[in-house]
Amino acid sequence: MGASTLRGYISRMTTKLTSRRKTERPSKIDLKGLKARTQKIIQLLKRAYPDAKCSLNHSNAFELLIATILSAQCTDERVNIVTADLFRKYRKPEDYLKVPATELQSDIRTTGFFRNKTKSIQGTAKVLTEQYAGRVPQTIEELLELPGVARKTANVVLGNAFGVASGVVVDTHVTRLSRRLGLTQQKDAVKIENDLVAIVPRKDWVIFSHLLIAHGRKICKARNPLCAECVVEKPCPSSYLKTGTMPGS
Ligand code: SF4
Repeated sequence: MGASTLRGYISRMTTKLTSRRKTERPSKIDLKGLKARTQKIIQLLKRAYPDAKCSLNHSNAFELLIATILSAQCTDERVNIVTADLFRKYRKPEDYLKVPATELQSDIRTTGFFRNKTKSIQGTAKVLTEQYAGRVPQTIEELLELPGVARKTANVVLGNAFGVASGVVVDTHVTRLSRRLGLTQQKDAVKIENDLVAIVPRKDWVIFSHLLIAHGRKICKARNPLCAECVVEKPCPSSYLKTGTMPGS
């Protein structure tokens, strides 16, 4: 499509959508339709990202727990650089308790918020050592009792280390894409997760986050979503090809 044709198309679509918005009354959510659209989105994303998986390097549940704590406000790439050395030095929970906090802070400094993360890691290591014989518990209730572990971390560990679908991991990409795709209107992570678990089939809870994260990194970027190249453009209500404006977060 040439530039002038595309501009004409966008302008026509904008007029159509604006007039439709003015005349249509708000209707009840069509849950059945929303579920069907969600399934279609999952199917298309699975085809586009057949290798989507957790991008935090780990070789066991404990390493994944530590990596996920470190990933708060930090990129997975940076966490993987730090854990390459960290996991050679600290192999089990007791190892994190043998060093002074300042030493661990220095080891994880480049992931940011290193003082808080050190408190969380050493607090978690203490509970695992004292209450779980050094093992990572496998229920969401027990994981949420660990210092610095919230729903996102617990869901990541349960889903990726134990294959337990306890919920949907909601990070910045999942938040942005779920909203753009019209799967939720919420902004709070727990409320978004509640909306998603109601429409995503349970068997897809774990992969769903990986798919949205992969798509968010490659195509549906925060600032410049590439709607014209997007495999879920058709079922996406926010595409600038339909609205004529760049989707927000
Ligand atoms: S069509 Fe655009 S806004 Fe919608 S998911 Fe694709 S890239 Fe994101």
